[in-house]
Amino acid sequence: MTTQQLPGIVLGTRYASEFPELAVPWKAAEAASPTLLALNEPLAAELGLDAAYLRSDEGVRLLAGNHVPEGATPVAQAYAGHQFGGYSPRLGDGRALLMGELADGRDLHLKGSGRTPFARGGDGLAAVGPMLREYLISEAMHALGVDTTRSLAVVATGNTVLRETPLPGAVLARVADSHLRVGTFQYARSMDDDELLRRLADHAIARHHPHAADSANPYLELFGSVLRAQADLVAQWMLIGFIHGVMNTDNTTISGETIDYGPCAFMEEFDPATVFSSIDAQGRYAYANQPPIMQWNLARFAETLVPLIDPDQDEAVRLLTEALGTFPARYQQAWTAGMRDKLGLAEGVPDGAATDLIDELSRLLSATRADFTGFFHALTAAAGGDSAPVRDLVGSLADGWLATWRALDPSVARMAEVNPVYIPRNHLVEEALNAATAGDPGPFEKLLVVVTRPYTQRPGLERYAAPAPPGAAAHVTYCGT
Ligand code: AMP
Ligand code: MG
Repeated sequence: MTTQQLPGIVLGTRYASEFPELAVPWKAAEAASPTLLALNEPLAAELGLDAAYLRSDEGVRLLAGNHVPEGATPVAQAYAGHQFGGYSPRLGDGRALLMGELADGRDLHLKGSGRTPFARGGDGLAAVGPMLREYLISEAMHALGVDTTRSLAVVATGNTVLRETPLPGAVLARVADSHLRVGTFQYARSMDDDELLRRLADHAIARHHPHAADSANPYLELFGSVLRAQADLVAQWMLIGFIHGVMNTDNTTISGETIDYGPCAFMEEFDPATVFSSIDAQGRYAYANQPPIMQWNLARFAETLVPLIDPDQDEAVRLLTEALGTFPARYQQAWTAGMRDKLGLAEGVPDGAATDLIDELSRLLSATRADFTGFFHALTAAAGGDSAPVRDLVGSLADGWLATWRALDPSVARMAEVNPVYIPRNHLVEEALNAATAGDPGPFEKLLVVVTRPYTQRPGLERYAAPAPPGAAAHVTYCGT
Protein backbone atom coordinates (compact mmCIF):
# COMPACT_ATOMS: atom_id res chain seq x y z
CA MET A 1 0.00 0.00 0.00
CA THR A 2 1.33 3.45 -0.75
CA THR A 3 1.29 6.23 1.80
CA GLN A 4 -1.37 8.01 -0.26
CA GLN A 5 -3.86 5.24 0.49
CA LEU A 6 -3.27 5.38 4.24
CA PRO A 7 -5.10 7.82 6.49
CA GLY A 8 -2.69 10.52 7.67
CA ILE A 9 -2.86 12.49 10.88
CA VAL A 10 -4.86 15.63 11.54
CA LEU A 11 -3.26 17.97 14.06
CA GLY A 12 -5.05 20.88 15.69
CA THR A 13 -3.51 24.28 16.25
CA ARG A 14 -5.37 25.22 19.40
CA TYR A 15 -2.37 26.14 21.53
CA ALA A 16 -0.49 27.75 18.65
CA SER A 17 -3.42 29.98 17.76
CA GLU A 18 -4.67 30.75 21.28
CA PHE A 19 -1.24 31.60 22.70
CA PRO A 20 0.96 33.30 20.12
CA GLU A 21 2.61 35.05 23.11
CA LEU A 22 3.76 31.68 24.46
CA ALA A 23 4.65 29.80 21.27
CA VAL A 24 7.06 30.28 18.39
CA PRO A 25 6.20 28.52 15.10
CA TRP A 26 9.21 26.38 14.27
CA LYS A 27 10.51 23.53 12.14
CA ALA A 28 12.30 20.35 13.16
CA ALA A 29 15.88 19.76 12.05
CA GLU A 30 16.16 17.44 9.05
CA ALA A 31 16.78 13.82 10.00
CA ALA A 32 19.38 12.31 7.64
CA SER A 33 17.77 8.85 7.55
CA PRO A 34 14.83 8.46 9.92
CA THR A 35 14.27 4.89 11.11
CA LEU A 36 11.58 3.74 13.48
CA LEU A 37 13.07 2.18 16.64
CA ALA A 38 9.89 1.80 18.68
CA LEU A 39 6.20 2.28 17.97
CA ASN A 40 3.52 2.02 20.65
CA GLU A 41 0.77 0.27 18.71
CA PRO A 42 -1.71 0.03 21.61
CA LEU A 43 -1.38 3.77 22.20
CA ALA A 44 -1.69 4.49 18.47
CA ALA A 45 -4.90 2.46 18.42
CA GLU A 46 -6.22 4.30 21.49
CA LEU A 47 -5.55 7.58 19.69
CA GLY A 48 -7.25 6.38 16.51
CA LEU A 49 -3.95 6.56 14.60
CA ASP A 50 -3.17 4.09 11.87
CA ALA A 51 -0.06 2.09 12.80
CA ALA A 52 0.61 1.19 9.15
CA TYR A 53 0.66 4.91 8.33
CA LEU A 54 3.03 5.64 11.22
CA ARG A 55 5.36 2.93 9.89
CA SER A 56 5.25 4.33 6.33
CA ASP A 57 7.97 6.69 5.06
CA GLU A 58 5.73 9.69 5.54
CA GLY A 59 4.61 8.49 9.00
CA VAL A 60 8.18 8.05 10.19
CA ARG A 61 9.11 11.47 8.81
CA LEU A 62 6.13 12.89 10.71
CA LEU A 63 7.32 11.25 13.93
CA ALA A 64 10.72 12.87 13.37
CA GLY A 65 9.08 16.27 12.72
CA ASN A 66 10.03 16.39 9.04
CA HIS A 67 6.58 15.85 7.62
CA VAL A 68 4.11 18.47 8.76
CA PRO A 69 0.51 17.51 8.03
CA GLU A 70 -1.45 20.10 6.11
CA GLY A 71 -2.87 22.74 8.40
CA ALA A 72 -0.59 21.93 11.34
CA THR A 73 1.58 24.58 13.00
CA PRO A 74 4.41 23.06 15.05
CA VAL A 75 5.59 25.43 17.78
CA ALA A 76 8.27 25.66 20.43
CA GLN A 77 6.55 26.55 23.71
CA ALA A 78 7.85 29.24 26.02
CA TYR A 79 8.10 28.71 29.74
CA ALA A 80 10.15 29.80 32.73
CA GLY A 81 11.04 27.73 35.77
CA HIS A 82 12.81 27.24 39.06
CA GLN A 83 15.63 24.80 38.47
CA PHE A 84 17.09 23.39 41.69
CA GLY A 85 15.55 26.36 43.48
CA GLY A 86 16.98 29.10 41.23
CA TYR A 87 14.70 31.02 38.87
CA SER A 88 15.30 31.02 35.10
CA PRO A 89 13.01 33.57 33.43
CA ARG A 90 13.24 31.95 29.98
CA LEU A 91 13.58 28.23 29.40
CA GLY A 92 11.11 26.91 26.84
CA ASP A 93 11.32 24.01 24.40
CA GLY A 94 15.01 24.14 23.55
CA ARG A 95 14.94 20.83 21.73
CA ALA A 96 11.25 20.03 21.49
CA LEU A 97 8.19 20.93 19.44
CA LEU A 98 4.49 20.79 20.03
CA MET A 99 3.31 19.36 16.71
CA GLY A 100 -0.33 20.04 17.56
CA GLU A 101 -3.34 18.48 19.21
CA LEU A 102 -4.64 15.02 18.29
CA ALA A 103 -8.33 14.26 17.75
CA ASP A 104 -8.91 13.58 21.46
CA GLY A 105 -7.35 16.92 22.41
CA ARG A 106 -4.06 15.51 23.67
CA ASP A 107 -0.74 16.98 22.56
CA LEU A 108 1.60 15.31 20.10
CA HIS A 109 5.04 16.55 21.08
CA LEU A 110 8.55 15.78 19.83
CA LYS A 111 11.74 15.81 21.85
CA GLY A 112 15.19 15.91 20.26
CA SER A 113 13.96 17.62 17.09
CA GLY A 114 16.68 20.29 16.81
CA ARG A 115 17.55 23.74 18.11
CA THR A 116 14.82 26.30 18.66
CA PRO A 117 14.93 29.95 19.76
CA PHE A 118 14.92 28.57 23.35
CA ALA A 119 17.97 26.33 22.87
CA ARG A 120 20.39 28.66 24.69
CA GLY A 121 23.72 26.77 24.64
CA GLY A 122 22.19 23.40 23.81
CA ASP A 123 22.44 21.50 20.54
CA GLY A 124 18.70 20.80 20.41
CA LEU A 125 19.32 17.10 20.04
CA ALA A 126 18.80 13.88 21.94
CA ALA A 127 20.53 10.52 21.78
CA VAL A 128 18.91 7.13 21.18
CA GLY A 129 19.59 5.88 24.74
CA PRO A 130 17.83 8.65 26.69
CA MET A 131 14.84 8.74 24.32
CA LEU A 132 14.34 4.97 24.60
CA ARG A 133 14.74 5.45 28.36
CA GLU A 134 11.83 7.91 28.48
CA TYR A 135 9.79 5.54 26.30
CA LEU A 136 10.48 2.57 28.56
CA ILE A 137 10.01 4.29 31.90
CA SER A 138 6.92 6.27 30.95
CA GLU A 139 5.25 3.13 29.61
CA ALA A 140 6.23 1.22 32.77
CA MET A 141 4.76 4.07 34.86
CA HIS A 142 1.53 3.92 32.88
CA ALA A 143 1.34 0.16 33.42
CA LEU A 144 1.91 0.78 37.14
CA GLY A 145 -1.18 2.98 37.14
CA VAL A 146 0.67 6.30 37.46
CA ASP A 147 -0.56 9.36 35.55
CA THR A 148 2.08 10.16 32.98
CA THR A 149 2.80 11.46 29.53
CA ARG A 150 2.90 8.53 27.11
CA SER A 151 5.43 7.54 24.49
CA LEU A 152 4.19 6.95 20.97
CA ALA A 153 7.45 6.35 19.12
CA VAL A 154 11.20 6.74 18.99
CA VAL A 155 12.79 7.46 15.62
CA ALA A 156 16.54 7.23 15.08
CA THR A 157 17.46 10.29 13.01
CA GLY A 158 20.60 8.96 11.39
CA ASN A 159 22.36 12.08 12.71
CA THR A 160 25.19 11.97 15.21
CA VAL A 161 24.86 13.65 18.59
CA LEU A 162 28.01 14.72 20.41
CA ARG A 163 28.03 13.93 24.12
CA GLU A 164 31.15 12.57 25.84
CA THR A 165 31.31 10.35 22.79
CA PRO A 166 29.50 10.56 19.44
CA LEU A 167 26.10 8.89 19.80
CA PRO A 168 23.24 8.04 17.43
CA GLY A 169 20.54 10.72 17.53
CA ALA A 170 16.82 10.17 18.08
CA VAL A 171 13.49 11.91 18.40
CA LEU A 172 10.85 10.83 20.90
CA ALA A 173 7.21 11.38 19.99
CA ARG A 174 5.17 11.71 23.15
CA VAL A 175 1.55 12.28 23.94
CA ALA A 176 0.33 14.30 26.91
CA ASP A 177 -2.91 15.78 28.18
CA SER A 178 -1.07 19.04 27.61
CA HIS A 179 2.38 20.53 28.09
CA LEU A 180 1.21 23.26 30.44
CA ARG A 181 3.61 23.47 33.34
CA VAL A 182 3.93 25.57 36.46
CA GLY A 183 6.72 27.18 34.44
CA THR A 184 4.21 28.18 31.72
CA PHE A 185 2.29 30.17 34.34
CA GLN A 186 5.52 31.66 35.69
CA TYR A 187 6.39 32.84 32.18
CA ALA A 188 2.92 34.27 31.55
CA ARG A 189 2.92 36.02 34.94
CA SER A 190 6.31 37.58 34.19
CA MET A 191 4.81 39.28 31.15
CA ASP A 192 2.65 41.35 33.50
CA ASP A 193 -0.41 40.86 31.33
CA ASP A 194 -3.38 39.79 33.45
CA GLU A 195 -5.53 39.17 30.39
CA LEU A 196 -2.99 36.64 29.06
CA LEU A 197 -2.72 35.02 32.48
CA ARG A 198 -6.50 34.71 32.69
CA ARG A 199 -6.70 33.17 29.21
CA LEU A 200 -4.03 30.67 30.18
CA ALA A 201 -5.87 29.77 33.38
CA ASP A 202 -9.15 29.42 31.47
CA HIS A 203 -7.42 27.15 28.95
CA ALA A 204 -6.02 25.01 31.79
CA ILE A 205 -9.44 24.78 33.42
CA ALA A 206 -11.15 23.82 30.17
CA ARG A 207 -8.58 21.16 29.34
CA HIS A 208 -7.82 19.63 32.71
CA HIS A 209 -10.08 20.74 35.52
CA PRO A 210 -13.39 21.70 33.87
CA HIS A 211 -15.40 21.50 37.10
CA ALA A 212 -13.47 24.55 38.36
CA ALA A 213 -15.36 26.72 35.88
CA ASP A 214 -18.52 26.30 37.97
CA SER A 215 -16.83 27.21 41.23
CA ALA A 216 -17.43 30.52 43.06
CA ASN A 217 -13.72 31.29 42.53
CA PRO A 218 -12.64 29.28 39.46
CA TYR A 219 -8.94 30.20 39.69
CA LEU A 220 -8.72 29.26 43.35
CA GLU A 221 -10.42 25.99 42.45
CA LEU A 222 -7.92 25.53 39.60
CA PHE A 223 -5.15 25.84 42.16
CA GLY A 224 -6.85 23.37 44.50
CA SER A 225 -7.40 20.89 41.66
CA VAL A 226 -3.76 21.01 40.56
CA LEU A 227 -2.67 20.65 44.17
CA ARG A 228 -4.82 17.57 44.71
CA ALA A 229 -3.70 16.00 41.42
CA GLN A 230 -0.04 16.59 42.25
CA ALA A 231 -0.34 15.43 45.88
CA ASP A 232 -1.93 12.20 44.64
CA LEU A 233 0.69 11.85 41.91
CA VAL A 234 3.66 12.20 44.27
CA ALA A 235 2.03 9.67 46.60
CA GLN A 236 1.88 7.25 43.65
CA TRP A 237 5.58 7.84 42.98
CA MET A 238 6.47 7.22 46.61
CA LEU A 239 4.44 4.01 46.74
CA ILE A 240 6.48 2.46 43.92
CA GLY A 241 9.84 3.98 44.86
CA PHE A 242 9.99 6.27 41.82
CA ILE A 243 12.44 9.16 42.07
CA HIS A 244 11.83 11.82 39.43
CA GLY A 245 15.24 13.39 39.87
CA VAL A 246 14.57 16.83 38.42
CA MET A 247 11.41 18.23 40.00
CA ASN A 248 11.90 21.73 38.66
CA THR A 249 8.79 23.87 38.23
CA ASP A 250 9.11 23.53 34.46
CA ASN A 251 8.77 19.77 34.95
CA THR A 252 5.61 20.07 37.08
CA THR A 253 2.47 19.77 34.97
CA ILE A 254 -0.90 21.47 35.42
CA SER A 255 -2.65 18.27 34.30
CA GLY A 256 -1.09 16.20 37.09
CA GLU A 257 0.82 13.94 34.72
CA THR A 258 4.41 12.88 35.37
CA ILE A 259 6.60 14.56 32.76
CA ASP A 260 10.23 14.52 31.59
CA TYR A 261 12.04 11.31 32.30
CA GLY A 262 15.64 12.47 32.49
CA PRO A 263 17.62 11.48 35.55
CA CYS A 264 14.74 9.53 37.09
CA ALA A 265 15.22 6.05 38.53
CA PHE A 266 13.55 3.57 40.85
CA MET A 267 14.85 3.18 44.38
CA GLU A 268 15.94 -0.38 45.03
CA GLU A 269 17.49 -0.60 48.54
CA PHE A 270 15.16 1.34 50.79
CA ASP A 271 16.83 4.59 51.83
CA PRO A 272 14.80 7.81 52.08
CA ALA A 273 17.89 9.85 51.15
CA THR A 274 18.29 8.06 47.81
CA VAL A 275 19.26 10.36 44.95
CA PHE A 276 20.61 9.21 41.61
CA SER A 277 21.18 12.42 39.67
CA SER A 278 24.84 13.35 39.22
CA ILE A 279 24.09 17.06 39.54
CA ASP A 280 21.92 16.84 42.66
CA ALA A 281 24.76 16.92 45.18
CA GLN A 282 22.52 18.47 47.86
CA GLY A 283 19.90 15.77 47.51
CA ARG A 284 17.19 18.37 46.86
CA TYR A 285 15.19 15.84 44.85
CA ALA A 286 15.92 12.79 47.01
CA TYR A 287 13.16 10.20 47.49
CA ALA A 288 11.86 11.51 50.80
CA ASN A 289 12.02 15.15 49.70
CA GLN A 290 9.60 14.72 46.81
CA PRO A 291 6.39 15.59 48.71
CA PRO A 292 7.75 18.82 50.29
CA ILE A 293 9.38 19.79 46.98
CA MET A 294 6.06 19.36 45.20
CA GLN A 295 4.48 21.65 47.79
CA TRP A 296 7.27 24.15 47.17
CA ASN A 297 6.60 24.00 43.41
CA LEU A 298 2.90 24.54 44.07
CA ALA A 299 3.78 27.63 46.12
CA ARG A 300 5.49 28.99 42.99
CA PHE A 301 2.30 28.18 41.04
CA ALA A 302 0.20 29.97 43.66
CA GLU A 303 2.34 33.10 43.30
CA THR A 304 1.51 33.30 39.61
CA LEU A 305 -2.24 33.21 40.28
CA VAL A 306 -2.42 36.10 42.78
CA PRO A 307 -3.80 38.64 40.26
CA LEU A 308 -6.68 36.31 39.34
CA ILE A 309 -7.87 35.30 42.79
CA ASP A 310 -9.08 38.52 44.39
CA PRO A 311 -8.86 42.25 43.63
CA ASP A 312 -7.41 42.63 47.13
CA GLN A 313 -3.89 41.17 46.90
CA ASP A 314 -3.68 40.43 50.61
CA GLU A 315 -6.92 38.50 50.43
CA ALA A 316 -5.65 36.62 47.34
CA VAL A 317 -2.48 35.65 49.17
CA ARG A 318 -4.47 34.59 52.23
CA LEU A 319 -6.75 32.35 50.18
CA LEU A 320 -3.88 30.76 48.26
CA THR A 321 -1.82 30.23 51.42
CA GLU A 322 -4.75 28.52 53.06
CA ALA A 323 -5.21 26.26 50.02
CA LEU A 324 -1.49 25.46 49.87
CA GLY A 325 -1.63 24.44 53.53
CA THR A 326 -3.91 21.53 52.62
CA PHE A 327 -1.11 19.79 50.71
CA PRO A 328 0.44 17.73 53.55
CA ALA A 329 -2.90 16.29 54.65
CA ARG A 330 -3.91 15.48 51.09
CA TYR A 331 -0.57 13.83 50.42
CA GLN A 332 -0.71 11.87 53.67
CA GLN A 333 -4.20 10.66 52.88
CA ALA A 334 -3.14 9.37 49.45
CA TRP A 335 0.03 7.80 50.82
CA THR A 336 -1.79 6.07 53.67
CA ALA A 337 -4.54 4.78 51.38
CA GLY A 338 -1.89 3.42 49.01
CA MET A 339 0.11 1.81 51.81
CA ARG A 340 -3.02 0.21 53.22
CA ASP A 341 -3.50 -1.42 49.82
CA LYS A 342 0.15 -2.46 49.60
CA LEU A 343 -0.26 -4.13 52.99
CA GLY A 344 -3.59 -5.67 52.01
CA LEU A 345 -5.42 -4.09 54.96
CA ALA A 346 -9.20 -4.34 55.05
CA GLU A 347 -11.32 -1.21 55.38
CA GLY A 348 -12.23 -2.17 58.93
CA VAL A 349 -8.64 -1.71 60.13
CA PRO A 350 -8.64 1.65 61.96
CA ASP A 351 -6.41 4.40 60.53
CA GLY A 352 -4.46 4.68 63.78
CA ALA A 353 -3.45 1.01 63.68
CA ALA A 354 -2.58 1.26 59.97
CA THR A 355 -0.45 4.36 60.51
CA ASP A 356 1.48 2.73 63.37
CA LEU A 357 2.11 -0.31 61.20
CA ILE A 358 3.27 1.81 58.25
CA ASP A 359 5.59 3.95 60.40
CA GLU A 360 7.12 0.89 62.02
CA LEU A 361 7.62 -0.66 58.59
CA SER A 362 9.45 2.46 57.34
CA ARG A 363 11.84 2.14 60.27
CA LEU A 364 12.32 -1.54 59.57
CA LEU A 365 13.02 -0.96 55.88
CA SER A 366 15.43 1.90 56.67
CA ALA A 367 17.31 -0.29 59.13
CA THR A 368 17.58 -3.26 56.79
CA ARG A 369 17.80 -1.40 53.47
CA ALA A 370 15.70 -4.14 51.95
CA ASP A 371 14.90 -3.99 48.25
CA PHE A 372 11.72 -1.87 48.24
CA THR A 373 9.85 -3.60 45.41
CA GLY A 374 11.16 -7.03 46.39
CA PHE A 375 10.02 -6.57 49.98
CA PHE A 376 6.39 -5.91 49.11
CA HIS A 377 6.40 -8.77 46.64
CA ALA A 378 7.80 -11.03 49.35
CA LEU A 379 5.18 -9.72 51.76
CA THR A 380 2.48 -10.74 49.30
CA ALA A 381 3.83 -14.28 49.53
CA ALA A 382 3.83 -13.96 53.34
CA ALA A 383 0.15 -12.99 53.27
CA GLY A 384 -0.39 -16.27 51.43
CA GLY A 385 1.45 -18.16 54.22
CA ASP A 386 5.04 -18.27 52.92
CA SER A 387 7.29 -16.07 55.08
CA ALA A 388 10.57 -17.41 53.70
CA PRO A 389 11.05 -14.66 51.06
CA VAL A 390 10.54 -11.92 53.69
CA ARG A 391 13.01 -13.67 56.00
CA ASP A 392 15.52 -13.85 53.16
CA LEU A 393 15.33 -10.08 52.86
CA VAL A 394 15.19 -8.87 56.45
CA GLY A 395 16.00 -11.88 58.62
CA SER A 396 14.16 -12.23 61.91
CA LEU A 397 14.03 -8.46 62.39
CA ALA A 398 10.53 -8.35 60.96
CA ASP A 399 9.09 -11.14 63.12
CA GLY A 400 7.31 -8.87 65.60
CA TRP A 401 6.03 -6.61 62.85
CA LEU A 402 4.86 -9.58 60.78
CA ALA A 403 2.88 -10.98 63.70
CA THR A 404 1.04 -7.67 64.23
CA TRP A 405 0.35 -7.36 60.51
CA ARG A 406 -0.82 -10.96 60.07
CA ALA A 407 -3.26 -10.54 62.94
CA LEU A 408 -5.04 -7.99 60.70
CA ASP A 409 -5.75 -10.72 58.13
CA PRO A 410 -4.20 -9.05 55.03
CA SER A 411 -5.71 -9.76 51.61
CA VAL A 412 -3.31 -11.54 49.24
CA ALA A 413 -5.48 -10.70 46.26
CA ARG A 414 -5.41 -6.96 47.01
CA MET A 415 -1.67 -7.03 47.57
CA ALA A 416 -0.99 -8.85 44.32
CA GLU A 417 -2.94 -6.18 42.47
CA VAL A 418 -0.88 -3.26 43.71
CA ASN A 419 2.61 -4.59 44.47
CA PRO A 420 4.57 -4.94 41.24
CA VAL A 421 6.86 -7.87 40.56
CA TYR A 422 8.74 -6.05 37.80
CA ILE A 423 9.93 -2.45 37.74
CA PRO A 424 12.53 -0.97 35.36
CA ARG A 425 15.55 -1.81 37.49
CA ASN A 426 18.49 0.45 36.84
CA HIS A 427 21.02 -2.17 35.79
CA LEU A 428 18.49 -3.73 33.37
CA VAL A 429 17.63 -0.36 31.87
CA GLU A 430 21.32 0.44 31.36
CA GLU A 431 21.95 -2.94 29.79
CA ALA A 432 18.99 -2.53 27.40
CA LEU A 433 19.94 1.01 26.37
CA ASN A 434 23.59 0.17 25.84
CA ALA A 435 22.60 -2.69 23.57
CA ALA A 436 20.13 -0.50 21.65
CA THR A 437 22.74 2.23 21.21
CA ALA A 438 25.11 -0.39 19.79
CA GLY A 439 22.38 -1.49 17.36
CA ASP A 440 20.77 -4.44 19.18
CA PRO A 441 17.15 -3.66 20.06
CA GLY A 442 16.51 -7.13 21.61
CA PRO A 443 17.09 -6.42 25.32
CA PHE A 444 15.06 -3.17 25.13
CA GLU A 445 12.12 -4.91 23.50
CA LYS A 446 12.24 -7.73 26.05
CA LEU A 447 12.44 -5.36 29.02
CA LEU A 448 9.54 -3.30 27.65
CA VAL A 449 7.35 -6.40 27.49
CA VAL A 450 8.30 -7.30 31.07
CA VAL A 451 7.74 -3.91 32.72
CA THR A 452 4.50 -3.13 30.91
CA ARG A 453 2.88 -6.13 32.65
CA PRO A 454 4.31 -5.43 36.07
CA TYR A 455 1.93 -7.38 38.32
CA THR A 456 1.92 -10.74 36.58
CA GLN A 457 4.73 -13.02 37.67
CA ARG A 458 5.90 -15.14 34.74
CA PRO A 459 8.27 -18.12 34.74
CA GLY A 460 11.66 -17.44 33.18
CA LEU A 461 11.71 -13.77 34.19
CA GLU A 462 13.39 -14.22 37.60
CA ARG A 463 16.31 -12.02 36.60
CA TYR A 464 13.94 -9.10 35.96
CA ALA A 465 12.53 -9.31 39.47
CA ALA A 466 15.92 -9.41 41.19
CA PRO A 467 18.00 -6.49 42.44
CA ALA A 468 21.33 -5.64 40.81
CA PRO A 469 23.95 -8.29 41.46
CA PRO A 470 26.07 -7.52 44.55
CA GLY A 471 29.13 -5.45 43.78
CA ALA A 472 27.41 -3.53 40.95
CA ALA A 473 28.44 0.14 40.90
CA ALA A 474 25.97 2.60 42.45
CA HIS A 475 23.56 3.87 39.83
CA VAL A 476 24.11 7.45 38.65
CA THR A 477 21.87 9.33 36.23
CA TYR A 478 22.60 12.41 34.16
CA CYS A 479 20.71 15.52 33.09
CA GLY A 480 21.19 17.19 29.72
CA THR A 481 20.88 13.89 27.96
P1 AMP B 1 14.92 19.32 31.23
O1 AMP B 1 15.79 19.35 32.46
O2 AMP B 1 15.21 18.17 30.31
O3 AMP B 1 13.47 19.40 31.58
O4 AMP B 1 15.29 20.59 30.37
C1 AMP B 1 15.39 21.87 30.91
C2 AMP B 1 15.52 22.90 29.83
O5 AMP B 1 16.71 22.70 29.06
C3 AMP B 1 14.39 22.92 28.82
O6 AMP B 1 14.17 24.27 28.49
C4 AMP B 1 14.95 22.13 27.66
O7 AMP B 1 14.32 22.47 26.43
C5 AMP B 1 16.40 22.56 27.67
N1 AMP B 1 17.31 21.57 27.07
C6 AMP B 1 17.69 20.38 27.60
N2 AMP B 1 18.55 19.74 26.78
C7 AMP B 1 18.72 20.53 25.69
C8 AMP B 1 19.49 20.44 24.47
N3 AMP B 1 20.28 19.39 24.20
N4 AMP B 1 19.39 21.46 23.60
C9 AMP B 1 18.62 22.53 23.84
N5 AMP B 1 17.88 22.69 24.95
C10 AMP B 1 17.92 21.70 25.87
MG1 MG C 1 11.72 19.61 31.08
